[in-house]
This record gives sequence, C-alpha cells and structure tokens, in this order.
Amino acid sequence: MSTRLYQCIEAIGNRIIENKDFLTDLDREIGDADHGVNMARGFTEVLAALSQDETDIGAALKKVGMTLLSKVGGASGPLYGTAYMKAAGPVAGKTEITLEDAREMLKEAIAGIQMRGKAVQGEKTMLDALIPAYESLNSSIENGVDAKTALSRMCETAAMGVEYTKTIQATKGRASYLGERSIGHQDPGATSSLLTLEAIRDFI
Ligand code: ADP
Ligand code: MG
Repeated sequence: MSTRLYQCIEAIGNRIIENKDFLTDLDREIGDADHGVNMARGFTEVLAALSQDETDIGAALKKVGMTLLSKVGGASGPLYGTAYMKAAGPVAGKTEITLEDAREMLKEAIAGIQMRGKAVQGEKTMLDALIPAYESLNSSIENGVDAKTALSRMCETAAMGVEYTKTIQATKGRASYLGERSIGHQDPGATSSLLTLEAIRDFI
C-alpha cells in the first residue's frame, strides 16, 4: 500500500512525464529541446528512489530534491532540486500539510530558486508562474478562502503567469541568448511549474 504522500508525488511525476513532448517542444523554440526530457528523466528516477510507504513529508521532499539535483542536467535540475529541498523545511517530520504549510513551502521553494538562479519576476522563467501562485495562495489564506478554492485560484493565477511569459523577453537562462526573438514563446520552466501545481490541486 502506498501512502497518499507517495501518490501525490507520483501524480506530479506522471503529469510531467505525460507532458514530456510538450515541454520539450516549448524548449525547442527558445532553448535546446531538452526540458521535457530532463524533467521526465528526473521524475522517473524520483519515483524509483522514493519509498512507497514514506510518510514523513519533509524526508520525502528532501529525497525528491536530492534526486533531481543529482540526476537532472540543465538549469532546471539544480533549480527544481533546490526548490524541493527547501520546500521540505517547513514540513520536516510532518505527516500532514495544512494550507498554511503549503504557502510556506512555496515561499521557501521560490527563495531557493532565486538563491540559485538569481532571477526575479519578469525574466521569463519558472518564477513567473510560481511567484504569482504564491501571492494568490497567500491572499486566499489571509481572506479565509477554503482550501479547494484557494488551490484553484492559485493554479489560475499561475496559468496567467505562464501566458505572461509569452509577452516578455528572456533575460535569464538559455532563452536569453535569443534576446528579443524569445518574445512570443511560452517559457518551458514556467509551464512545468504550472503542471506541478495543477497536479497537486487535482490530487488534493
Ligand atoms: P537548460 O536551459 O539548461 O537546457 P532546461 O531546458 O531543463 O535547462 O530548463 C529551462 C528552464 O529553466 C527555463 O524555461 C526557465 O524557466 C528555467 N530557468 C533557466 N534559468 C533560470 C533562472 N536563472 N532562474 C529560474 N529559472 C530559470
Ligand atoms: Mg533546455
């Protein structure tokens, strides 16, 4: 019997793996056509490495992060690896997650990505999905919105962030080499971040 925790990480992994070609196609337009391949390989390794009866959320997320760090190349491996490692912090030793925990996890994940990648919002990266998602979740919590609605709004906001990446020029990562020619294309990393949030929402 696998735990709900394992099933949730499996749901994220499956969502990424199902969208491998889509993510790679997006990266073909403004990068080197490996984002889907990178992420799918990473999550295949994650699912193999993770114990199906793990219940400690912090320990599991640390393992996810370590696996992504060690198995995924490119910019996204270290960035997502750090994000999961940092998200583990607020839930170390816990077996359940509250909406407030989720907010802290997202905050820490963003801080980790920024620590490593030195990007800010508006540079056409995964942060353009994740930062608005965090802000939405934070305002839902402050306004006492129920969890289900909060998670849907968070995903809708992240999806708008992904749309926004089409309108801006990349100034970080490989896509920045294209300069203005990166405008008009959707960022692959913002897209994989949105897929992750949607998989979590659908699972919960
Ligand atoms: P690579 O660009 O090395 O081939 P991937 O294709 O796997 O790596 O990942 C590309 C994605 O990584 C981009 O779409 C972008 O969202 C994200 N990214 C790149 N550089 C940064 C950065 N400095 N900060 C945040 N995200 C970044
Ligand atoms: Mg790439």
